Amino acid sequence: MELTICHLYPDLLDLYGDRGNILALAARCRWRGIEPVIQQASLGEDLDFMGMDILFIGGGSDREQGLLVQDLMRREKELRSAIENGLVVLAICGGYQMLGQYYLMASGEKIQGLGIIDIWTTAGEKRLIGNVVVELDECVQSVDSKFKTLVGFENHSGKTYLGEGIMPLGKVVFGNGNNGDDREEGVRYRNVFGTYLHGPLLPKNPHFADRLLELAILRRGSDTRLRKLDDSLEELAHETMVKRLLK
Ligand code: GLN
Repeated sequence: MELTICHLYPDLLDLYGDRGNILALAARCRWRGIEPVIQQASLGEDLDFMGMDILFIGGGSDREQGLLVQDLMRREKELRSAIENGLVVLAICGGYQMLGQYYLMASGEKIQGLGIIDIWTTAGEKRLIGNVVVELDECVQSVDSKFKTLVGFENHSGKTYLGEGIMPLGKVVFGNGNNGDDREEGVRYRNVFGTYLHGPLLPKNPHFADRLLELAILRRGSDTRLRKLDDSLEELAHETMVKRLLK
């Protein structure tokens, strides 16, 4: 079996080791005999959203978001259809903001978003920086995993708010999350996951990486179950951070 994983704008959106998320997904596929096919696409390059299995959009500064918005908007229709069809998407920070209605920068300039999810972002006065622990919402948890938390690192000035009925990934138990006010972190819409967590996120949260892989396999109509891996190192990294932050 092959799984196609696409990194969108790897040259513009790749903060704090975001590319490590692609490496983690690919490694977890390979360790199970699934062949990962890695695609990349940047400004002006074409993509088949419907044909891919996982789309990854990383974080970037306001400047990069401004540089790519036009190119992203021309992809809106196709990406929306693929998402409605169950495409698995992981979007981090700047990439996460771009899935929403808009990002209002501190300068007063508004960057338009794809509007695929009813969320919006306004730049706050202080940057929200540091380590984060999130208690995952039940429906985001992997059935087989003992882990119910996500650990990561955030650095954003944008404060993101979720519209009526839009679900977060979970509750912040350490750090700021979406906006530092409502203790919520990230968003889930269909098979789309948006989050402020860098780090990169997936090596320290192997249960979340597997959740994305499970959903991608399910979308293909396959009943292949993911073989359990020896995650002792990854689990130690995760547990160490949880203990250090919540002590
Ligand atoms: N420009 C955004 C902000 O500062 C995103 C930053 C990021 O991707 N780390 O809010």
